[in-house]
Amino acid sequence: MTTIKELSTEPYKPDWCPGCGNFVILQAVKQALVNLGLKKEEVVITSGIGCSSKFPQWINTFGLHGVHGRGLVMGLGVKMANKKMKVIVIGGDGDIYGEGVNHFIEALRDNVDITLLVHNNLIYGLTKGQASPLTPKGRVTSSTPLGNPAYPLNPIALAVSQDCGFVARSTTSHMKHLVDMIMKAISYEGFSYLDILQQCVTFNKVNTMKWYKDNCYEIVKHKVGDKKKALELAFKEDSLPIGVIYNIKKDEFCKGHPILNKNPLIKRKLDEVNIKSLLDEISY
Ligand code: SF4
Repeated sequence: MTTIKELSTEPYKPDWCPGCGNFVILQAVKQALVNLGLKKEEVVITSGIGCSSKFPQWINTFGLHGVHGRGLVMGLGVKMANKKMKVIVIGGDGDIYGEGVNHFIEALRDNVDITLLVHNNLIYGLTKGQASPLTPKGRVTSSTPLGNPAYPLNPIALAVSQDCGFVARSTTSHMKHLVDMIMKAISYEGFSYLDILQQCVTFNKVNTMKWYKDNCYEIVKHKVGDKKKALELAFKEDSLPIGVIYNIKKDEFCKGHPILNKNPLIKRKLDEVNIKSLLDEISY
């Protein structure tokens, strides 16, 4: 079993702004991995671009830091190549719901056994505070000086509407809850999606840690398999519910695939794969 200390990258430390919510999520992920008894060699963390996407550099597991919006694609590829690994995808609200939204939808459809953790601070942080697909309408940002004219996406409603097997929300203001939600997400067999509301202390002066404390409440007595109720929770705006919003069983992609359900692809011997007929077909 791995310890918190073994997951540390000391003496190298994250270069996030002091007080950023990314620190809280990093600590929560480490705690969840330790609580689940996972070895660091069993875990791969992939990410796209953004402040949060530097995550794989700051935790001592396997990791891949890719291009904008493509953390999910890499995570799916890793899992399909080696289904024995626990795959966690990290991305911000800009990265996942903007540049990567097509891959988000694909992941909802495929149901490959990976976990998506979205660092949702309602803004693009790394590129200096532009409006993201989740920035509230009317909000003044560096790219919307007259107020954001667009309506925000509702990714939780989107995920529930597409029958994502595990949909949850937590915040960096609820540490114990956050660790619990990450553990539940990683333990789900299939695509699990956790939206984490976090502070960006530099570019979002509205949604602070205190704001999330004051405006979120924990879900109690909710039938997690009830889609209608889950959608009601997803559309709540006055105060934001946190917890497991939707949870159903679904067929996992690799299990139902005639090749991927056997040994991991990385165990296949390439000399056993005959592509001659395919090459003959496409060569002139
Ligand atoms: Fe965190 Fe915002 Fe600073 Fe990025 S800009 S490191 S999200 S506080």
